[in-house]
Amino acid sequence: MAKIIDGKVISAKVKAQVKEETDKLKTQGISIGLAVVIVGDNPASRVYVNNKKKACAEVGFESFEYALPEETTQEELLELVKQLNADERVNGILVQLPLPKHIDENAVINTIRPDKDVDAFHPENVGHIMIGDFSFLPCTPAGVMEMLAQTGIDVDGKNCVVIGRSNIVGKPMAMLLLHKNATVTICHSHTKNLKEICSNADVLVAAVGKARFVSADMVKEGAVVIDVGMNRLENGKLCGDVDYEACFDKAGYITPVPGGVGPMTIAMLMKNTLTSAKK
Ligand code: NAP
Repeated sequence: MAKIIDGKVISAKVKAQVKEETDKLKTQGISIGLAVVIVGDNPASRVYVNNKKKACAEVGFESFEYALPEETTQEELLELVKQLNADERVNGILVQLPLPKHIDENAVINTIRPDKDVDAFHPENVGHIMIGDFSFLPCTPAGVMEMLAQTGIDVDGKNCVVIGRSNIVGKPMAMLLLHKNATVTICHSHTKNLKEICSNADVLVAAVGKARFVSADMVKEGAVVIDVGMNRLENGKLCGDVDYEACFDKAGYITPVPGGVGPMTIAMLMKNTLTSAKK
């Protein structure tokens, strides 16, 4: 039977540390601000933005929300990002993705000042991650690494498999595991023998975006199973990429959805914003 890696508990610890440092900075007259920009009315994005605002309040940051209409032009959005780049009250800028189709996400990401890019999506920060000399790590993979560390799971020399190769999750996840000396395999939709590769993993990270994609026969007995997936079912419930019930008895450790990687992502965003302010 698997031990549950509780993202709520671990993220609360991370946020408590951030709050402690924020309170200290406040006594020196330094306040910390995070700007969150949302374009259009994607309900999932709305939920994420509200959770981020709530977390800012918890740790003592000021949050500046910019909710722009769906028809906002790319130029208007870039203009706002430039204003935020120059705004001294703002230590971190987060533009909630996905953006409406008429806006080029890369153009927006590339306009955010790298030292305020708390999502770590700017090519300059991506480059730093590749080299292993970084200040910011993308929040979701960083959250996974924090969960592993706080659970006492050392990936050194372990066989780690990441399903998914997105720029936001899969690729940086693989890179962070590699920096910790894991032997890493990245799988994607063209991968042959997926089941066989996964069932040899000591640590299996699922970032596919398909509900209950990872079945018990893809999991090695005693493996660590990390579920990054956040899929909304027809009944409105949130569901991971892992068939949790089926894999529970086989895995050694498992993360639930909700209450796993999701809260960690937000906690790491707070940590990145603090890092930016300290700089
Ligand atoms: P994405 O950009 O859609 O990437 C999905 C990846 O899964 C792609 O690399 C794709 O391969 C791969 N894939 C799809 N079908 C596959 C199959 N049959 N076999 C093997 N690989 C397959 O998604 P993402 O942004 O990385 O997000 C992944 C999941 O994580 C989503 O559920 C998302 O909501 C969730 N997420 C959660 C958090 C959090 O805070 N918990 C944060 C971000 C994302 P190809 O590249 O070949 O297409």
